[in-house]
Formats: sequence, C-alpha cells, structure tokens
Amino acid sequence: MSRIEFRNVRHAYPPPPGQAPVYALKEVSQVWEDGGAYALLGPSGCGKTTLLNIISGLLTPSEGSILFDDNEITQRPTADRHIAQVFQFPVVYDTMSVFDNLAFPLRNRGMPESQVQARVIEIAEMLDLSDRLKHRASGLSADGKQKISLGRGLVREDVNAILFDEPLTVIDPHLKWQLRSKLKELHQQIGVTMIYVTHDQVEALTFADKVVVMHDGGVVQVGTPVELFSRPRHTFVGYFIGSPGMNVLPCRLDNGQPVFANNLLSSGYPADTDLSGKLEIGIRPEFVHFASQGIPVAIEKVEDLGRYQVVTVKHETEQIKMIVAEDQLIPSENPQIQFDPENLRIYCDDWAVGADGA
Ligand code: ADP
Ligand code: MG
Repeated sequence: MSRIEFRNVRHAYPPPPGQAPVYALKEVSQVWEDGGAYALLGPSGCGKTTLLNIISGLLTPSEGSILFDDNEITQRPTADRHIAQVFQFPVVYDTMSVFDNLAFPLRNRGMPESQVQARVIEIAEMLDLSDRLKHRASGLSADGKQKISLGRGLVREDVNAILFDEPLTVIDPHLKWQLRSKLKELHQQIGVTMIYVTHDQVEALTFADKVVVMHDGGVVQVGTPVELFSRPRHTFVGYFIGSPGMNVLPCRLDNGQPVFANNLLSSGYPADTDLSGKLEIGIRPEFVHFASQGIPVAIEKVEDLGRYQVVTVKHETEQIKMIVAEDQLIPSENPQIQFDPENLRIYCDDWAVGADGA
C-alpha cells in the first residue's frame, strides 16, 4: 500500500495538426493518503478519467511527477505500480468461466492454486456471484459482467490502490445502492486506498471520507462532505453539491460587507476592502429565510418535496432558491427574505474570500 502524490501534474492529449494543445488536466498537486476512501467528483469532461489513468500508468502526464511513498514512478509501466482499476464498462473474458475471470489477476501473479480458490470464493460471495462461478461470463447480463469486473479489481490484496471509474453506470438502480454500500464496507475491512470516480454527488458523498471536487481540469476543493456543504471554497462546489445548489448572486462591497442589489447585507466573513474582480455572494437555499424585514421578493414557484418545500423567489432580475420547512406558510403579501450571516460567503472570481475563505 502507498501514499500517492501528484506534483504539478498537467496533461494535454495530442492536439489535431496545427492546433495548440488544450490541457485536460490543468495543474494538479494532490496527495492521496494511504488507506483513504476518496471520491473524485465532477461533471463529464472535467478530467477524472485522465487523472485515474495517470495514477495507474495507462497515461504518462505531459508535465509533473507522480510519487508512490516518495518514490518517483512517473515513467514506470502499469505492471510496476500494483494498481487495480475497474472501468466504466465491463472488461471480462467472455470465453472464460466467472471463476477463471476472477482468478485471472491472481494466477497471473503466480499465486498458489489453493489460495486462489479461497480468495475467489470469498470475493464471489461478497458480490453474490457464488452460484454462477462455473458459468461462462458471456452468459451474464451487463450487471453480472460488471460485478465480475469489480471482483477482478477487488481480488488482489497486494495492491497500492483500487481505482473505480464510474463503475456502477451500467448497474440497475437498486443493485447500485447495494454495491455501493458493499464497496464502503470492503474499504473498512481491507483498508486499501480506494479512489472512486463519479459525477453523482450522492454516490460520492456516501462512499467517501474525502471528496476531491474537480472542475475544468483542476481540483477546486478537497474535503469531507460536511466541509463541502458548509464551506464551499469555489462557487462551483457550492453549485454542484447540494440540491438545489448554492445561490450565487452578483454583489459589490461596502467596507468589506456585500451589497446585493442595493441591499446591504451582513456576512460573518467580511472581505478585504481592496478586492477587485468578479464579486459574488454565495448562500445555500437552506440558509435563506422569510423575514418581516429584509429583501423584498416575488414568489415564482413552490415545489413541495414532502419533507420540505423548495421555493423560488425573485428580486429584480435575480432568482433565489430557498428550502422551507414542510409546514411553514409561504407569505402571500409583501414577502421578504433574509440571508443567514454565518452562512453568507463572498466570492471573488469564483474563489471564497474573507477569514478562512481562501
Ligand atoms: P471525465 O472522465 O471527467 O469525463 P476525461 O478525463 O475523459 O473526463 O476528459 C477530459 C478532457 O480530455 C475532455 O475534454 C476530453 O474530451 C479530453 N480527452 C479525453 N480523452 C482524450 C483523448 N484520448 N484524446 C483527446 N482528448 C481526450
Ligand atoms: Mg470519465
């Protein structure tokens, strides 16, 4: 097992002739501590697969270095790295039995057959594949095949890390939930570093102790689910995590405090007074409340989601989402809102500013 470190890693795929390279990874310096359960979360195209393939060695980065336990391995081939990788779509040997598929990574490394048997049986049990061990892999559904791929990723105990690249994409929703909790359980049992790539915040937040949020080829924040919710360092984190995401509204500053459409607000994290750049406030819908004195709004939409209501209001041209208790009445005359100062953050060019902001 290893601690994995990226130092100033950048990667550009070869550009079409005559064009300048575009960096799929802009610059990543990041440590994955030994034994951690990490999720790599971000929208499609932000560089997640590129980053995983650089860890496993399928790709050599254009710049920067990769270290496993302080040993530089940037140019070393995949076989030397002892990384197991599970891809988005099943990779199985169709003509082999389920058993032989699971045994493959172990036999490949010369494990004695008696140990292979024991380990394959254990992994098959965990993934509910025990009754199909003798079947040919070709006869299984997409779900079944992906379980084999997961099994092949999990079967070796001598790996530095296990990488999962959106592994549950082809899995049925109810099984998805089951497999996700299994992976989490397994991580607790075997303690190998796991990096789980997903674009789904629920998957990321349930699997991981630490979530690495990626946006446009870079890492914008690394934190626990609670940290990402309560202190988004970047407007993208605020917007991407949470449902609905954080409200991001234009503002100017008055003595370090934000002014939104001529309403002077109060933030627990005032900004330096000499800031310049695109200035915005971020406030999550959970921290916007109706009040007897505040910012006048018009109610645009009320969605009853059972346990709570999502209310969309408008002030001048700006839409604001609020989460309101299920039993709370929505004011019908002259509605006004307030932002909770402790959860109102100021952003400059998308990065949080103010005490402990940046
Ligand atoms: P993700 O896994 O987050 O969806 P990727 O790492 O696959 O993102 O892709 C990041 C960026 O790199 C995207 O803009 C994608 O189009 C580009 N890209 C990925 N693979 C290649 C490739 N083999 N050649 C050229 N561009 C690529
Ligand atoms: Mg991908």
